[in-house]
Amino acid sequence: MTYAFSGACLDFDDFEFDPIDSLEADAERAAYDSVASLKHVRKRSNGEHTIIRTHGVEIGGDRFVVMAGPCAVESERQVMQTAEAVARAGARVLRGGGFKPRTSPYAFQGLGLEGLKLLRKAGDAFGLPVISEAMTDGQVELVAEYTDIIQVGTRSMENAALLAALGRCTRPILLKRGMVASVEELLQAAEALMAHGNANVILCERGIRTLGKLTRNTCDIVAVPLLHHLTHLPVIVDPSHATGRRSLVPALACAAVAIGADGLLVEVHPSPQKALSDGVQSLAIPQFERMMQRLKPYFQLWAEERALNETPVAAPR
Ligand code: PEP
Ligand code: MN
Repeated sequence: MTYAFSGACLDFDDFEFDPIDSLEADAERAAYDSVASLKHVRKRSNGEHTIIRTHGVEIGGDRFVVMAGPCAVESERQVMQTAEAVARAGARVLRGGGFKPRTSPYAFQGLGLEGLKLLRKAGDAFGLPVISEAMTDGQVELVAEYTDIIQVGTRSMENAALLAALGRCTRPILLKRGMVASVEELLQAAEALMAHGNANVILCERGIRTLGKLTRNTCDIVAVPLLHHLTHLPVIVDPSHATGRRSLVPALACAAVAIGADGLLVEVHPSPQKALSDGVQSLAIPQFERMMQRLKPYFQLWAEERALNETPVAAPR
């Protein structure tokens, strides 16, 4: 069935909705309208999805990808110890901030270039591609030199100059949802990256602001299937920032795998109580190892489901 609203066409054959349910049909029309103009990010009519490849790791492919590491790189010892442990436990990408966007100007701002060098060294030592954040357009070249994936933080999702600079670079981009951004706005930011020339975009649900203080954010977990419904891009979940509490991270990680996310971005620290940033939500190494064990049956089910719902894959660019 092909709908042609607002002058554009999108094939809804793959979309599951009951045409006799008019409310659902209205919701589908609204969903369609929200992506109709986003020609780079909207789901392709043939159902193809995009796989992002970096150093033998495929994000959006037939294996769930865990990215893990410290919030911020603090020292060689800290990042090496974490890299060794997360690689052994099954993580396939090492995370770690060099340039840290902090809400307070008095909080630890990261080691900057030194942090990026240490992250690269740790990734290379344990065979893991690395991801780190660029906060400004002026940092893009430097961050690209030392990393394999560049992160756009929640505070930067609407930074047009940064998105344009990242659009022109060749590294895959992990785009975090703004903390008060709608799904539509996240997709518009992704479209900006792609319209500037970067086809390798990973979307990340990291929680949005709601009410109450018992969690740092609220994970909009249903954004995962919704984004898969609307786009061909891979979608991952960050259960660390979404909860702000390490005790809640494993449960949300299970939910993310169960709901069909393509991966996780998790904060891990050798001594969370001493961490210079986000210690409260960082898993200690044994906790990360236990979480990975707990996730095993979920990974199994995830792989079975993926195989059942196999859709064509976009040709590598
Ligand atoms: C981070 O990943 O450490 C980070 C700062 O994330 P966010 O932008 O989601 O707050
Ligand atoms: Mn953090």
